[in-house]
Amino acid sequence: MKRTMPQSIALAVLACLLATSLQAGNNKQKKTAWNWMAANHSEAVTTSREVWENPELGELEYKSSEALAAYLERNGFTLERGVADMPTAWVATFSNGEGPSVGFLAEFDALPGLSQQAGNPVKTPLVEGGAGHGCGHSLLGVGSAYAALGVKAAMTKHNIPGSVKVFGTPAEETLVGKVYMVRDGVFDGLDIALGWHPGSANAVAYSSSLAMSSIKFRFFGRTAHGAGDPHNGRSALDAVELTDVGVNFMREHVIDKARIHYVISDGGGAPNVVPDRAEVWYFVRAPKTEQQRPILDWVREIARGAAIMTQTRMEEELLSSCYEFLPNDPLSRLLQENLEQVGAPEFSAGDWEFATELARSFDDPPEMLLDTTLGELKIVPPGQWGSTGGSVDDADVSWNVPYARLYTACAVKGGNSHSWHVVTCAGSEIGFKGMTTAARTLAGAGVEALLNEKLRKAAWEDLREKLDGRAYECGVPEGLLPPHSRAGQENYRAK
Ligand SMILES: [Zn+2]
Repeated sequence: MKRTMPQSIALAVLACLLATSLQAGNNKQKKTAWNWMAANHSEAVTTSREVWENPELGELEYKSSEALAAYLERNGFTLERGVADMPTAWVATFSNGEGPSVGFLAEFDALPGLSQQAGNPVKTPLVEGGAGHGCGHSLLGVGSAYAALGVKAAMTKHNIPGSVKVFGTPAEETLVGKVYMVRDGVFDGLDIALGWHPGSANAVAYSSSLAMSSIKFRFFGRTAHGAGDPHNGRSALDAVELTDVGVNFMREHVIDKARIHYVISDGGGAPNVVPDRAEVWYFVRAPKTEQQRPILDWVREIARGAAIMTQTRMEEELLSSCYEFLPNDPLSRLLQENLEQVGAPEFSAGDWEFATELARSFDDPPEMLLDTTLGELKIVPPGQWGSTGGSVDDADVSWNVPYARLYTACAVKGGNSHSWHVVTCAGSEIGFKGMTTAARTLAGAGVEALLNEKLRKAAWEDLREKLDGRAYECGVPEGLLPPHSRAGQENYRAK
């Protein structure tokens, strides 16, 4: 029906008024979440410190994952522990009856060798050679849980139906946790997922990442004396070297943007002993899964060929395999709007002083050491997505449920990531401030997602568009246990 001009103007005004009142309504509910969070801030900080003080490597995060699970449990969430065959993986749920479900992703694994005192601007390990939260995961998990508790407060007070969940996802650094959890259906039934990552700036993470597989090839030969009777030996190390040579020749014939790197994780013991076992560990990456998987298969064929050439036996061990990340436009906008409402973290004179001290150890410190600005969100079509350059395991979540994430300033700009620079910030004020900004943003977005059915529909529509007919097929086969559960606890990392 063709409407007259005044009618359409009236409708537009009405739509505008409705939108404003909906926003105002949402703001009331969001304020409840934020007020609760402000009143309960110290518990979040204490829990984050508890995780920080127990830096544990992927799949071994017993104390830190339990600290986080207990934080949610004592605040009214129901815990299901040990999901997807990982003792440190869990799902925490608060339900307020039938309705939509919003999930937050929580990480808590640390990195080896990064031990550092909190709040000390000079490199001083707490435990020589010990692990540390060099990726800020001590803030990440707690920030997500803190946001979920804020959402729960709003749901309870305003009787918002639905449920809010937190997913305790182990071993992000080895790209294991979320992939195995997705494969085992842990995220099924979720309407929206939100996450964040500690960084040194404040912005929505609107970019892709590389699809990747982590795989080990182990060769078994026959030992012999290197000089006395080498003719009796069959060298497993020869097989490793021929695999690497084959892969290096293959490089010319794969796309430029593929990234293939390896380390010889076991190369034998001594030159005068023909090694009867050797191992090479590969990361095989490409911008898209459909480009990456054929390259992986080629690498596997090369390893099989090397075993034939050397008369050795080869065993392959797939550790994990993840997709490339799919940004979600409506959810990215939702995070951006909420980030703008929350605002950037405010740093004290003491924080700035600390940043200046810490920056003395940087190669090239930037002018602005602490980010108090907000990045702009630039939505671009799929072909123009930037890439993090690395790979992330929440990419697999992004293929299965509409998902978006942000990062906030939890560390001093210009420092190295995955280093003691981050560890020292993550355990002190700067980190806690960034975490609070992220948690408030996530809580606001979570409340809105529960209230706004149109938004949830748009997010799913966007995901379908991004998938463009491609079906998700987990890169980790059915029934394969996560690396630690597979190998027993000690053995995998010792190799
Ligand atoms: Zn990380």
